[in-house]
Parts: sequence; C-alpha cells; structure tokens
Amino acid sequence: MQTVPHLIANKPITSLNTTLVFNPATGEQTGQVSSGGAAEIDAAVTAARAAFPGWAATPPAKRAKVMYEMRRLLEANKDRLARAISAEHGKTHTDALGEVARGQEVVEFACGIPHLLKGSFSKNVSSGVDCYDERQPLGVVAGITPFNFPIMVPLWMMPMALTCGNSFILKPSERDPSAPNLLYELWHEAGLPKGVLNIVHGGKDAVDAILDHPGIAAVSFVGSTPIASHVYTRGCAAGKRVQALGGAKNHLVILPDADLDQAADALMGAGYGSAGERCMAVSVAVPVGEKTADALVAKLKPRVAALKIGPASDATAEMGPLVTAAHRDKVSSYIDAGAAAGAELVVDGRGLKLQGYDNGFWLGGTLLDRVTQDMSVYKDEIFGPVLSVVRAETYEDAVGLINANTFANGTALFTRDGDAARDFAERIQVGMVGINVPIPVPVGTHSFGGWKSSAFGSHGVYGPEGVHFYTRLKTVTSRWSAGVRSGAQFHFTER
Ligand code: NAD
Repeated sequence: MQTVPHLIANKPITSLNTTLVFNPATGEQTGQVSSGGAAEIDAAVTAARAAFPGWAATPPAKRAKVMYEMRRLLEANKDRLARAISAEHGKTHTDALGEVARGQEVVEFACGIPHLLKGSFSKNVSSGVDCYDERQPLGVVAGITPFNFPIMVPLWMMPMALTCGNSFILKPSERDPSAPNLLYELWHEAGLPKGVLNIVHGGKDAVDAILDHPGIAAVSFVGSTPIASHVYTRGCAAGKRVQALGGAKNHLVILPDADLDQAADALMGAGYGSAGERCMAVSVAVPVGEKTADALVAKLKPRVAALKIGPASDATAEMGPLVTAAHRDKVSSYIDAGAAAGAELVVDGRGLKLQGYDNGFWLGGTLLDRVTQDMSVYKDEIFGPVLSVVRAETYEDAVGLINANTFANGTALFTRDGDAARDFAERIQVGMVGINVPIPVPVGTHSFGGWKSSAFGSHGVYGPEGVHFYTRLKTVTSRWSAGVRSGAQFHFTER
C-alpha cells in the first residue's frame, strides 16, 4: 500500500509516522500519508530559503511564464487530477473537474500579476528628488489547506505567492493528500525551479511547526473556525503575516416574489452539491412568510428525496459520500439532535446504503423544516447534506437572523425586487453576497473572503488582495541632482 511522501526540493521523503487514507465510496483504506513535524518543516524551510533569492530575482514576466505553462498543464491533466480528488475526497467526477477549473482561474489571474507588481513613480517631488514604490516578495511563505478542495484551495495560494516572487511550503489536508502531490509534479513540469515549492504532509504537529518557525514570513490558512483562530493567534504571536479563513453557515433568503422553482433548484445545488462539504454551501434556507415557506418546502421535498447519490465512477451521480466515517456519523448525529429538538424531518437521509458500496461513508440528502435559532443544527457548521429551513415572518427578520450569526462567509437573496436586492447587499454583514446567485464565489480577478468568525486577518485570498498579502511595499526617495548641495538640514521643511 502506497505511502504518500513529503516533497522537499523535488525529493520524496517519508516519515515513520503516518495517517491512514481512505476511499470514501468503498470505505477501504487505500494508502497512508507521511505525517511530518518540526524536522520536516525545518528541512522544507531550508530548501525554500535557498531557492528564494534566485526566484525573487527572476523577472516577474519569466515567473509568469511558468503560470502560462501551468495553465496548459492543468487543462491537459484535468481528468487525472479530478480522478485523484474523487478517489480520496469522494466528490463526483464533474464536481472534481469544476474544482480544477476554479483553481485554474487563479493561475490565469497570476499570468497578469506582473502588471500589479508595477510601482508608482513621482518625478521631482522636491528639487532633483524622485520617489517610487515597488512591491517586494516576503520570502518563504506557507499554506495550510482543508480536505474539501485539495486542488482548488492550494491553487488559491500557490500561483499568487509564487508569481509575487516568494517560495512556498504547502501543508495539505491529511485526508486527501495525493492530488496536491500531483499538482507538485505539474508545477515542476511547468518550469518551477527546485526548492521554490515544497510539500510537507501532516496534522497539528506540522501546522504548529509552521506557525513557530522563524524562517516563515507569512501563513495562509483555510479550514474550520477553531483551527483558523488558533493559526491566526499563534502565527501573529510569532510575528508572521497571517490570513486564516474559517467555517461558515450560509443563509439563502427567499422573498415572496422570487421565482420559487429557480430558488428550489439553486438550493439543491448549493445545499447538496459536494455533499454539502463546501464552505460556500447553503445550509439554511430562509423563506419569508408562511405561504412562501410552505410552497418552497413542497418544491424541495421531492427534489431532495430524488437526489442521485453514488460514487465518482457513476456519471449520473449528483452527490458522493462524506469524507470519513467519523464525519458521516457526526453529521448524522446533528440530524438526530435537530429532530429531538423539535425540527420537522421532511426528508431523512440517515442510514443510506448503496448496493456494492456497503462500507462507503454514505448519507442521504436531508431536509429539516421549522428549525429555530437555538437548535444545534442551526448554530453549528454541519458540513454535510443537511438543509435547514428557518421560517422568517418578515424581510427584516431574515436580515436580523443573518446579521446575528457569528459566521459570515456567504449569503444570497432570491427576489425580483431591485430595491430589496440593493438594500440586502448594502446592509448584510457578510463577506460574499449573491443576488439570485446561490454560491457567490468571486471570480479569479476579484478576491475571496468572509467576515466575522469566517475569516481572520485583513486580506482576502487570490485576486488583488492576494498580491497585497504576498508582497510588501517599499518606497524609495532618491536625489540625483548634479552639483546641487543643500547642506545639513535639521528641520522638516516645505519641499
Ligand atoms: P480543519 O480545520 O479540520 O483542517 C484544516 C487544516 O488544519 C488541515 O490541513 C488540518 O491538517 C489542519 N488541522 C486540523 N486540526 C488541527 C489542529 N488541531 N491544529 C493545527 N492544525 C490542524 O478543516 P477541514 O475539516 O479539513 O475542512 C473543512 C472546514 O474548512 C470547514 O469548516 C469549512 O467551512 C472550512 N473551509 C473554509 C473555506 C473558506 O474559504 N472560508 C474554504 C474551504 C473550507
């Protein structure tokens, strides 16, 4: 059985400590992954430090050429990458292809980063004095990523950090480590020099070693809120620049004037796509008014019951298994708790079995109605195929519900009313907002990031915010005025 290795300066290295890796559709152990700690992180930092000066001095246009080539390679290898994702994550093949395409968008953005590294120039700010600024790379930076997007989330970070001139260490999720290693191969095929990119696998030990290592200047994290908070606090205490994106509880509000079929279809994709294991999944539907709620639930019920669930090899599957047996059981226990607390179990996905896949980590789509704010099924991020309906009496109640939630990653409003849409976009306290768009993930030319406990730090990921995160500003003021001497000046003067 294969052991997925660390990749440091283009060499595979294995550790004695390992974590088991499973195929979620069959429940079989398919391998194991090396679990690194301080020694492996230190080796990766040494390699990345050695590679940094040469890479930082490489003209930005040449660094961008690696991105152009990487874009081509991602396109050529998308099927292989998607299969690697599905084998350890469980998502459908089409969804995995979509993940690769979303990551590729950031590589495409990175092709143009040289334009954003241009500084500004002011001539003659004082007699014979010019001033210019530039954005310089930070040095060795690290990324820590979650299981749910083993290709896309690393690609939110790598192309940005690398094109800005940094060297990079990735610590992927231990649940699906093979796809990131494939990505590593492609980066080197694209022309990335040895040591500029390194991968260290592992869990808490590897993460804490990154946070404490004095040779790492910045850390990007994407994962759950408790770990994001830990990463932000410990990383900042060690003097690093940190962006830490956390969990979510995304609401979709349906006004009485909305096209209910459009809203129901949107809720199906956003609630159950990727088995709800997306940070931008919609886990709460908020219909406004009892009539809207009754009609919406009536439209959702047959759709949820008819969800086609299957392994990635089934091209007709709309949703796959959950990532581990433990996670499936945890999600299932939230359904128990919701029903016990008085929520109406409209569709119950517990206990789903699939013929030929008896040991897979399956859970059917679940719909709970009349969920209230005090229930754990509402308060916690569940990260599974469970949609809760929280009925709101008025539009103001719906806005109040969302603004009172501690998570603030994404939200959406479905309506035909332009005034309501404009008001919602303005007043809602959430980082990413959709109007008749259920999953408003910003395109590569914008930046991704939530508010409140969904993100710690001041920069979003990728897009222009990513360039700012991975660079620092230097401003140079220079005097080149032949023969002009101003003498010693002890006071600030007008220029
Ligand atoms: P997780 O927080 O368990 O793990 C994320 C990373 O942290 C992994 O690399 C993991 O190895 C590491 N880690 C786990 N426990 C740790 C510990 N105790 N100390 C230090 N490091 C630790 O998250 P996950 O289960 O892999 O992913 C799902 C979560 O990620 C969900 O909460 C989801 O909302 C979130 N997520 C957020 C975004 C976003 O953009 N906001 C995107 C994707 C996923």
